[in-house]
Amino acid sequence: KFYEPHGAGFGSVNSGGKIPLGLKRKGLRIVVTGGAGFVGSHLVDRLIERGDSVIVVDNFFTGRKENVMHHFKNPRFELIRHDVVEPLLLEVDQIYHLACPASPVHYKHNPVKTIKTNVVGTLNMLGLAKRVGARFLLTSTSEVYGDPLQHPQVETYWGNVNPIGVRSCYDEGKRTAETLTMDYHRGAGVEVRIARIFNTYGPRMCIDDGRVVSNFVAQALRKEPLTVYGDGKQTRSFQYVSDLVEGLMRLMEGEHVGPFNLGNPGEFTMLELAQVVQETIDPNAKIEFRPNTEDDPHKRKPDITKAKDLLGWEPKVSLRKGLPLMVSDFQQRIFGDHKEDST
Ligand code: NAD
Ligand code: UDP
Ligand code: UDP
Repeated sequence: KFYEPHGAGFGSVNSGGKIPLGLKRKGLRIVVTGGAGFVGSHLVDRLIERGDSVIVVDNFFTGRKENVMHHFKNPRFELIRHDVVEPLLLEVDQIYHLACPASPVHYKHNPVKTIKTNVVGTLNMLGLAKRVGARFLLTSTSEVYGDPLQHPQVETYWGNVNPIGVRSCYDEGKRTAETLTMDYHRGAGVEVRIARIFNTYGPRMCIDDGRVVSNFVAQALRKEPLTVYGDGKQTRSFQYVSDLVEGLMRLMEGEHVGPFNLGNPGEFTMLELAQVVQETIDPNAKIEFRPNTEDDPHKRKPDITKAKDLLGWEPKVSLRKGLPLMVSDFQQRIFGDHKEDST
């Protein structure tokens, strides 16, 4: 049975591996929920470039039309304003499920909405995947490890998460989303993939979204002090967005369910990150210490052995190479024509 790009009995990636390889990569119909956001829009660029038809589903809570506007004239691109907490009927082959605010400032803004997005939103997209036989990829997070007692974090680690804290709407939400994903896989035979994404940065991040890289870059450009929370000795591992997108696509196309850690193992304290930002943007940038937020994980670094072995994936862009790549985008949006304001 051959894959028919837009035929009535639409072909699915589940068609028992009978799709000839050359055709399999052409003309898939793919939903990207959260596709108007930071990571989603970079993923959409790659999928469109590959020749697929892409439907972005986004409620524009943190996403922006500007991130995907360059595809508006492409007949293979569609944008639907929709909240994934509500059911959705579509006919597609693959679902990349990214819809969920990712910055702590955004996801704490309305925690009940965050957990509804993670639980009901994921349930709906899994129901959709089940109905049409689509392959489903969940973008989970390193936050499922909480404030980890194991370092670096391996996928087999179950985590150290506060179930009643201010971050729980996000990390417990994602943990439940993982559970739902595995239960649809085991119970309904849905083909699923789970990525646990570590801190990612790059062009199109929301300016002022409160995440540390976007904060420091915007602050350095505006000649404001870099705000280091706590003593600045907590660590994170920062991944450039193109590496993540490559990992997500390999995971979706590969044979393994996961979960897979997708992150850059290069680990930095927040003070070291501030130093890299100073070196990249403004050596005279000052540092200002602020009280830290509640339940802030002390350290975070992915063990990516599994992704290396089974997906043949590893990040290519170091922090020192990647940071300059987002500076011109931020510069343009901060000092340019204020394109960021409309949605
Ligand atoms: P983002 O905030 O830029 O993008 C999220 C997108 O989802 C936005 O376009 C937003 O409008 C949309 N959205 C939110 N709630 C929605 C809803 N109820 N219905 C429809 N759309 C909704 O964040 P991002 O950094 O691009 O993150 C994308 C995904 O990756 C998220 O699921 C996030 O949890 C995960 N992730 C990201 C990181 C990171 O460092 N960027 C780390 C771990 C996990
Ligand atoms: N769903 C959806 N689109 C679909 C199929 C299902 O949004 O194409 C939603 C549906 O409304 C339900 C959820 O996904 O809330 C789970 O669907 P499923 O069929 O697994 O469960 P049920 O409807 O039996 O509760
Ligand atoms: N942080 C900081 N200054 C800022 C914003 C964040 O020092 O302006 C710290 C924060 O306390 C945390 C780390 O940077 O330890 C990463 O925070 P972010 O919100 O980017 O992501 P998280 O990994 O916590 O989800």
